[in-house]
Amino acid sequence: MTRHVAVIGAGIEGAASAIELLRAGHRVTILEPGTPGGEQAASFGNAGWLSSHSVLPPSAPGLWRKVPGFLADPLGPLAVRWGYFPRVLPWLLRYLAAGSTEEKLLRIARSLRPLLKDSAVLHTALAGEAGVPELIEHRGLMNAWHSRAGFEAEAMGWRIRRQVGIAWREIEGEALREIEPDLDPAYGFAVLVEEAGRCLSPGRYIAALVAHAQAQGAALRKVAATGLRLEGRALKGVALSDGTVLDCDAAVIACGIRSAPLAAQAGDGVPMQTERGYHVMLRGANAGPRHSIGLGAAKMVVNPMADGLRAAGQVEIAALDAPPNWKRAEILRDHLLKSFPGLPDPFPADRVSMWLGNRPSTPDGMPVLSPSSRCPEVIHAFGHGHVGLVAGPRTGRIVSQLLSGRPPEIDIAPFSPTRFR
Ligand SMILES: Cc1cc2nc3c(=O)[nH]c(=O)nc-3n(C[C@H](O)[C@H](O)[C@H](O)COP(=O)(O)OP(=O)(O)OC[C@H]3O[C@@H](n4cnc5c(N)ncnc54)[C@H](O)[C@@H]3O)c2cc1C
Repeated sequence: MTRHVAVIGAGIEGAASAIELLRAGHRVTILEPGTPGGEQAASFGNAGWLSSHSVLPPSAPGLWRKVPGFLADPLGPLAVRWGYFPRVLPWLLRYLAAGSTEEKLLRIARSLRPLLKDSAVLHTALAGEAGVPELIEHRGLMNAWHSRAGFEAEAMGWRIRRQVGIAWREIEGEALREIEPDLDPAYGFAVLVEEAGRCLSPGRYIAALVAHAQAQGAALRKVAATGLRLEGRALKGVALSDGTVLDCDAAVIACGIRSAPLAAQAGDGVPMQTERGYHVMLRGANAGPRHSIGLGAAKMVVNPMADGLRAAGQVEIAALDAPPNWKRAEILRDHLLKSFPGLPDPFPADRVSMWLGNRPSTPDGMPVLSPSSRCPEVIHAFGHGHVGLVAGPRTGRIVSQLLSGRPPEIDIAPFSPTRFR
């Protein structure tokens, strides 16, 4: 059955969903108040990692012991703003509980693995279709530490990865220096996950995917969805910020951190919190990595992108509308300059840009990807937290399968919103 589907939000989840829905023969209208690929979306400023090995939630056993430190150090890699603590406490307790044992982590890894697997292959195909093959590279991702001891300190995570079928190559000492000659020699040990890939300009990539969807027949309207028009269990339309209603018989909720109110209308209360993250970009950098590298000591990812060298990271638990703390981006810049000593320090300020974005996070680090409880034609495709880009293509395929009466290609039971009841 062919439907008219309102895709709410044009980040990676909405863009990939629109393309797959069109492929299945549906009529698609994309609703997006910003510019597709624009700075308002998490999909614009992320680290560009197509890390099919990112199967672990951000929480970990014993993390609760570090909560006083998260509150005390506003510039630490994970910080909770004091004034916000009472409001976020219920979400935070669930976050800590989600990763409190190795068994729980393994369960989450087993659920996420099929969603993330083959991500670089799927993105390569999407980028090719959209005419931007140069924006996806499938050459592996590296994680580096000062020594093997740094890697071993994270042994549980890597053990779980191995259990779910992820492989890597270890690179040590001189061999690392040969592959990454600009990296600070203080880094002596790395692993390369060859199945993974990276995006060289997430903003341009999303813009190209949405343009491709339009070329395939999607309509794009520069409006926000303000509500669902439901009659019993049937969707009749989506109310829009311009005061009109879009008549449609299906909808995809893919508006990132702003998805929860619409999901609640569709019968599902989902505890969502922004894990705010920052990036810094250096344009015209004369040194940097050959691969994209996650630096253990700095807790950030460095990705040499089409428009400059990007360092991204930090988790700041604060209100969605709290002002940015640009000191956090400056920390990323300083780590970047230290990690690649060939870069001029200070780096010319007119070639530096900074960005703050909102990871749309559930407490267990897994998305909500499922038909809604109230209406089977309203599909949830949000809450991807740290793994929204890597999970994008398969999310789009599953959305389309759900609205085309086909069984989803992987088990989506773990992504049901009912897990939060
Ligand atoms: C610093 C940082 C680094 C990251 N690194 C990575 C990484 O390397 N790899 C990875 O996989 N993930 C990464 N992530 C996470 C990833 O960016 C997100 O999970 C992903 O972008 C979420 O995509 P989305 O489509 O759900 O939301 P978004 O990209 O935020 O898009 C949502 C869109 O919905 C629109 N919208 C909002 N309200 C409405 C409304 N009412 N009606 C219509 N439209 C609306 C918004 O304008 C926006 O364009 C990172 C995130 C950050 C912050």
